[in-house]
Amino acid sequence: MIDQHMARRDRVFGAGSPLFYDAPVRFVRGDGVWLYDADGRPYLDTYNNVPVVGHANERVNAALADQSRRHQVHSRYLDDTIVDYAEQLLDTHVESLDNVVFACTGTEANEVAIRMARLATGGEGFITTNATYHGHTTALMRFVRAPRRGRRGVHAVPYPQRLRPIEEGLSEAELTERYLAEVDAAIADFAADGVPFAGMIVCPLFANEGLPDVPSGFVRGAIERVRAAGGVAILDEVQAGLGRTGAWWHYQQLGVIPDIVTSGKPMGNGYPLAACVARRELVEPFRARTQYINTFASTPVQGAVGTSVLAEIRARDLLVNAERVGAVLQSGIERLIDGHDRLAEVRRAGLFLGVEVVTDRLSLAPDAELADRVVNALKDHGVLTARAGEHRNVVKIRPPLVFNDEHAEVFLQAFAAVVAGLGG
Ligand code: PMP
Repeated sequence: MIDQHMARRDRVFGAGSPLFYDAPVRFVRGDGVWLYDADGRPYLDTYNNVPVVGHANERVNAALADQSRRHQVHSRYLDDTIVDYAEQLLDTHVESLDNVVFACTGTEANEVAIRMARLATGGEGFITTNATYHGHTTALMRFVRAPRRGRRGVHAVPYPQRLRPIEEGLSEAELTERYLAEVDAAIADFAADGVPFAGMIVCPLFANEGLPDVPSGFVRGAIERVRAAGGVAILDEVQAGLGRTGAWWHYQQLGVIPDIVTSGKPMGNGYPLAACVARRELVEPFRARTQYINTFASTPVQGAVGTSVLAEIRARDLLVNAERVGAVLQSGIERLIDGHDRLAEVRRAGLFLGVEVVTDRLSLAPDAELADRVVNALKDHGVLTARAGEHRNVVKIRPPLVFNDEHAEVFLQAFAAVVAGLGG
C-alpha cells in the first residue's frame, strides 16, 4: 500500500521530495495531539507546532467553515473580521509594536520584514547566524549557510551556545561578550566593504540552529549593537512565538523589544496565516513605498481563523500549560538520559525540547545517524518527532500546545523503551 502510494507520489512530484522516516507514514485523520494512519493506528504528535490548538480543532474548523460560507475577498475592501483580528493579535505584543502586515507564510513575513528594514535604513547588509533558516525564496536562501563575510549582503555570525562554545574556559558573561564581538565584527566588515548596514534577523530561540542554551544577554546585546550601528533588529518568531515558550512571544520573556517580529506556522492552526509586526514608523513608509499586496493575505477567512486560534489558546490557558507540561517532559527525559553516554542533554523552552545526541559525552561529537535512529524508533513506538539543528543530531520535541500530562506519560514510556534499546 505505502509502496504503491510512494510510486504514485514520485510519478507526480518527481522523486526526491522530502519525507519523514525510513518507512513514511500516511495519515487519514487527526484529533487533538493524535494522528491516525489508514489502519487506525494512533500516533502521538510531539512534533507539529502548526496545529497549535490540536488537529481538527472544533473551534477553528467552525470559524473557517462559517467565514468561508459568508465571503472571502482580497484585502482591498473594508472588512471587520481582519481588522478585529489585527487588533487582537497586536494586543498580544508590547505596545510599541502596533502595526501589522499580514502574509500567508513565514517566508513571506520575513521577506516583508527584510524589505521594510532595507527601506527604512537605505541599507543592504544583514546579519544572521551560520545555521539558520528563514525561508525559501531566492532572497532568503542567501541567509542559509551564509558565509562569514560574503559578497552578497549577508554575513553569518556563529550562533550563541554553551555546549560547544566558540571559545573554551570563559565565564557566561565573557562568552556572551565573545559572541557579541562577532556581531561587532560583522558590522565592521560591512563598513569596510562599503555595504550600508540594514540590520539583523535571528530566531530568538535559535530553533533551527538546534535550540541551544544561549549565553544570557546575547539577544539583548545583539539588538543594542545593531541599533547603535543604525540597523533594524528583526526577531523571527515563526517557531518561537504564539505561546510555544509559555509567553505569547519569546522576546517578552527575554525582556527585549525588537523593531520587527515575524510569525507564521501556528497562527492559523494549519490555515496559511503569517504576520510581520512592527512599529508604525517602519510600516507606514513600507506601505507607501511598496503598496504591498498579497492575494491570499489579510482576508476575512484569515481573520476568522486567526481569531479562533487566539480564543482557543486563551480558553484553554495554553501559555501556562506549555510551561507546566514542558517541565514535566524535561524532568522525565532528564531521568531517562541521566548518565547515558550518547544522549548528552535535554534543552527546553516552554513546550519545545531538544535532546542532544552525541557519539560520547567526552567528545560531544554530534551523532546525526543515531539521532535518526532514535526518531525512527520513536515513530515505530507511535510517537512523532524529527531531527533539527546545525548537525541534524537534535531530537526535536515540539507538540501541539494542547499536550497534557497523560500525553507526556505516553511520550516518556516510548522514549524509555527507545533509550533501553540503544544500550550504553
Ligand atoms: N522562519 C523560521 C524560523 C522557520 O523555522 C521557518 C520554517 N521552518 C520559516 C521561517 C519559513 O516558514 P514557512 O515555511 O511558513 O515559509
